[in-house]
Amino acid sequence: MKIPRKLKILSHEYIIKEVDNLDCSGYRTSNGQNMILLNKHLANSEKEETLLHEIIHAINGQLSDITVEFLAQSLYLVFKENDMLK
Ligand SMILES: [Zn+2]
Repeated sequence: MKIPRKLKILSHEYIIKEVDNLDCSGYRTSNGQNMILLNKHLANSEKEETLLHEIIHAINGQLSDITVEFLAQSLYLVFKENDMLK
């Protein structure tokens, strides 16, 4: 999967940035601008899965982080096993 620079999620535009000063995999911020920050030092597969994780958070902010991680890992595997990550 190519990490996009922008994404529309439920009509809201998010800027996707890879940054090198994160002490986690990634997170969302909406300080005047919706952004998803990804840790630049992750393997590509980890960036893709982290992006999926943050997209699920953006779709439903009520889900627990455990549920979000479960969905992100499961969906990522389905996409990967079916060669959908090109
Ligand atoms: Zn999370």
